Parts: sequence; C-alpha cells; structure tokens
Amino acid sequence: MIKNIWKDPVWSKVISVGIIGLISLAYARFISVTEHLTFQQALNKIIEIRISVIYIICGIISYWVLAWVIRNLLKKDNELYNKKQRELRKFNKHHEPKSGLLARWQVLFDYDTPFISDLSVFCTKHDGPPVRFMDNKCPFLDCPNSMQIINKEAIKNLIESDLIHKWDNLK
Ligand SMILES: [Zn+2]
Repeated sequence: MIKNIWKDPVWSKVISVGIIGLISLAYARFISVTEHLTFQQALNKIIEIRISVIYIICGIISYWVLAWVIRNLLKKDNELYNKKQRELRKFNKHHEPKSGLLARWQVLFDYDTPFISDLSVFCTKHDGPPVRFMDNKCPFLDCPNSMQIINKEAIKNLIESDLIHKWDNLK
C-alpha cells in the first residue's frame, strides 16, 4: 500500500515535501535550543540554507544542459551519416580463420549505394598481431599465404556485394 502511494508521482512528491518540511521544523527546533535562538530565527536560518541548496542544484542543472549542448555540437559523425548508414559502417572487417585472412575497410556511400575504401588484407597465421600483406601476399616466405597472390579487386567486389545486400535489408 505504502509502496503504491510512493510510486504515484504526485503522492510521492507530496510525501517528500511533507518529510522535508517535518525534518526542517524538527531541525529548526533543535538549533533554536542548541544555539539559543528563537524558533523564528532558527527557521529563517534553515530557509537561507535551503536557498543556497537551490542555487547549487540550479548550477548543477545548467552544467548538465551546457555539457549536453556541447557534446551534441561536437558529434560531427552524427551529422555526416544517418542512423542506417552508421549501422552499415559497423561492417568494416571480416576474418576467415581457415585461410588466415583478415580484411579491414571503411564503408562510404555514393548517394544511396555503399562502397568501400582503404581495403587492407592481413595474415593471421602468425603469433602476435595480424601481419599486413605486401604486394598482395603475406610477407613471410614460409607462410602458405605468401605462395599465392590475392585478387584485391575480387575481394573488394565480394565485400561490396555483401554490403549492398545488407543495405537493402536494413530498416
Ligand atoms: Zn602469413
């Protein structure tokens, strides 16, 4: 029952104000006794404290608003790409563990058609970080990926075909 009243937005506010009021009055009574003030003087003192609390709260809220505005002004990426484009831009790499090939790229848009740029292929058949291909093959001579040269245009075409398919299916 109390829980239901507390969840009600109007009642919870009324109760909060009531509780704060009661605490303030009790506190006024307390300092009027301990600091030898009249009850009215003690109450005035508390109201002064509460006004300074309101200033602090206003300060915090204006800081939040200002921070939010600045953050939104700095979000250049958001202006450049719409939501659907940002979603597709997340598909920017592909790893095939079997062949040890890792492809990375950037998704850009030609009007409403996605295409890729900065395609780099890496070999993951080695310890440590993936090794970038040189002359379209793995630079390590003892690696199976150094035996055959990859066709970058064909890989680019495969990736773009997949991206166009994903683009059509994105809502
Ligand atoms: Zn290799």
